[in-house]
Amino acid sequence: MSIDSHSTAFASPAARADGRTNLIGLSRPELAALLEELGEAPFRAGQLWRWLYRRGASDFTAMTDLGKTLRAKLAERCVVDRPGIASEQLSRDGTRKWLLAMVDGQKVESVHIPETERGTLCISSQVGCTLTCRFCHTGTQPLVRNLGPAEIAGQLMLARDVLKDWYREGDERAVTNVVLMGMGEPLYNYDNVARAVKVITDGDGLAISRRRVTLSTAGVVPQIRRCGEELGVSLAISLHAVTDELRDRLVPLNKRYPIRALLAACREYPGLNNARRITFEYVMLDGVNDSPADARELVRLLRGIPAKVNLIPFNPWPGSAFACSSPAAIDRFADILMNAGYASPIRTPRGQDILAACGQLRSESRRRPRHERRAELHGPEPAIAGAVSA
Ligand code: SAH
Repeated sequence: MSIDSHSTAFASPAARADGRTNLIGLSRPELAALLEELGEAPFRAGQLWRWLYRRGASDFTAMTDLGKTLRAKLAERCVVDRPGIASEQLSRDGTRKWLLAMVDGQKVESVHIPETERGTLCISSQVGCTLTCRFCHTGTQPLVRNLGPAEIAGQLMLARDVLKDWYREGDERAVTNVVLMGMGEPLYNYDNVARAVKVITDGDGLAISRRRVTLSTAGVVPQIRRCGEELGVSLAISLHAVTDELRDRLVPLNKRYPIRALLAACREYPGLNNARRITFEYVMLDGVNDSPADARELVRLLRGIPAKVNLIPFNPWPGSAFACSSPAAIDRFADILMNAGYASPIRTPRGQDILAACGQLRSESRRRPRHERRAELHGPEPAIAGAVSA
């Protein structure tokens, strides 16, 4: 099977077993069409939309301006589904990680990272991943399936539920930014991600501005332009190496879309300027990609692209084959970038004590032995593979 075929080979979950429609993830026109089918005026869609995405209502009886008959019809035919929480962990630094269960029992992770001026929610786009990047924990787990739009947008809705972050006049928001940097390759699930992004960025609903949504890709070159044109989100590229020889090994997708082609697509990304740059993520691997020569080559490669660099200290996970670069090596690397005009590029690891940092996300897709499951039911241990062995 070719790499590209992964994008279509794994369908989203089938319709709900009870035949009802989940309203989450429908576009506005789809919602209007559904209301028309129920004999209602399409303009009601706006009202319903605001209940769903501004107020976070999941119970039709609460939607008091909709009329009793419509509420009853909606309750009969439709649901407002959120992912369920299989487990939750709170880090010392306030980072919170959820293992979320989808209707079919598949699990993914999302992470909330509170900061002084903003709060970022890192969400997943697939259950597992096809990419097998050598340093990434999710890469050790096979792709199980794509997430659907409701499951992607639902991660934000669930976070708003838990963090009590639904619309209130004038209040600070717990989630101001969304990054598609969790499990999976978003550009291999483009259609579902696109639908979810439209829901997430709708100004009359969840209202996260496009600029504050960042899609991170390992470099699915043919989808990059489309992503900029159709979604207008900020782009992050997982680069991690400056030669094809090394990148082929670290990010096997590079064999298909080498650095040159990737950077050419970046140069053409719509809407770039000095205020709006592409973020290049670069994981710092001891003795592998962290030499001054690597840093200088990185500067050379990025020339002409409005770019930021994010140096990510490698976050180890049980069984990983790499070590994080020394602080001195990271500083040296950062200095070279800084002298070339790229400011403060080192990413502080967050949520390390709960294995919530970059690249550590991995839910358990295999069936675990009975004794482990029993321990999970009765013991305090969280249902997250990495955390159990940490
Ligand atoms: N598939 C997408 C999004 C998921 S990975 C992509 O590749 O961009 C999100 C980011 O975490 C990527 O930059 C990835 O390279 C980085 N990452 C993965 N494993 C890591 C680890 N163990 N330590 C630090 N960063 C890691």
